[in-house]
Amino acid sequence: MLKCTGFAAEAADAPLRQIHFERGEPGQSEVLIEVMYCGVCHSDIHQVRNEWNNTVYPCLPGHEVVGKVTKTGSEVKLHNAGDIVGVGCMIDSCRKCAACAEGAENYCHGPNSWLATYNGPMIPKAKAATGANSYGRDNTYGGYSSHIVVPEDFVLKIPASLKPEEAAPLLCAGVTTFSPMRHWGVKSGDKVGILGLGGLGHVAVKLAKALGCHVTVFTSSPDKHKAAEAFGADNVVLEGDDEAMKPLMASFDFILSTIPQKHDVNPYFPLLKRDKTLVAVGALEPMEPLNNMLTAFHRQSFAGSLIGSIKETQEVLNFCAERNIAPEIQLINIEGINDAFEKIVSGDVRFRYVIDMQATST
Ligand SMILES: [Zn+2]
Ligand SMILES: [Zn+2]
Repeated sequence: MLKCTGFAAEAADAPLRQIHFERGEPGQSEVLIEVMYCGVCHSDIHQVRNEWNNTVYPCLPGHEVVGKVTKTGSEVKLHNAGDIVGVGCMIDSCRKCAACAEGAENYCHGPNSWLATYNGPMIPKAKAATGANSYGRDNTYGGYSSHIVVPEDFVLKIPASLKPEEAAPLLCAGVTTFSPMRHWGVKSGDKVGILGLGGLGHVAVKLAKALGCHVTVFTSSPDKHKAAEAFGADNVVLEGDDEAMKPLMASFDFILSTIPQKHDVNPYFPLLKRDKTLVAVGALEPMEPLNNMLTAFHRQSFAGSLIGSIKETQEVLNFCAERNIAPEIQLINIEGINDAFEKIVSGDVRFRYVIDMQATST
């Protein structure tokens, strides 16, 4: 067993604090990674605070992990000791279902769905049709830790031209916004709307601009106007500004909502062209009721999308490396994580906290 340290919460109302725990040695097809950086995602807060009613404690979050391979199993072919690599939201999947066969592991239909980087399988044994847990463990510990052990094919290559700390947020925020743009065929010249300008939203603006789109940001924060323009936004609209919305009617090819909690998407359907789609990626919870009169009127769709596949995650890393795209990050020490959570909830972060795990005293 490997002795590790990490920061975890023991209960929904408890702060994160340092724990000492053990991980299994890497198996034949697994790699051991020494964590260098870990992004702080809003999901980490939802999970720690049991806001999805499925948290397994202790909860040790972190799914935007970048580190160095320090040991490889005997059959590992994809990575070598010394490689700088990434780990996103998943560390395994059933590998048998149609989704896995198609390389869409993030939509795994296996009895326990995919194995999350933290908090164990997406479908725990109590809710699985088989009543069992095919992964053999009810909890997993994420990247707020000194080391992590992951099957080699769920480990991403970090291109040399990306700074490791800036690559970290691409592993969740990047792929979560990139995947739906690809799936719905967003292309050069399209008019794209981005709702929310936080960790996901600001990356979405940069990605959409790099795809050649005309981008409008909808934000509730007047003080984010300048930042939105600096990220390349062509237009910035303050939520609830009806006058600013009027000239935008029926003009958008795609709208992506990155708002991380329940919100009202109804005001945005009149902005979409006929047959176009509004996709929500930030809020994994019941939304304000949808007025189907609005969507029916011009045959529009409302859709969800969950992170992205391993292939898409590598694609977004390569895409950002080729186009010099980097998330806006603020480095913090793990000791500041509880304060960082508060600032994310209150919207004070600009725009993604990344924990420097190498600065952690163990
Ligand atoms: Zn995330
Ligand atoms: Zn599967």
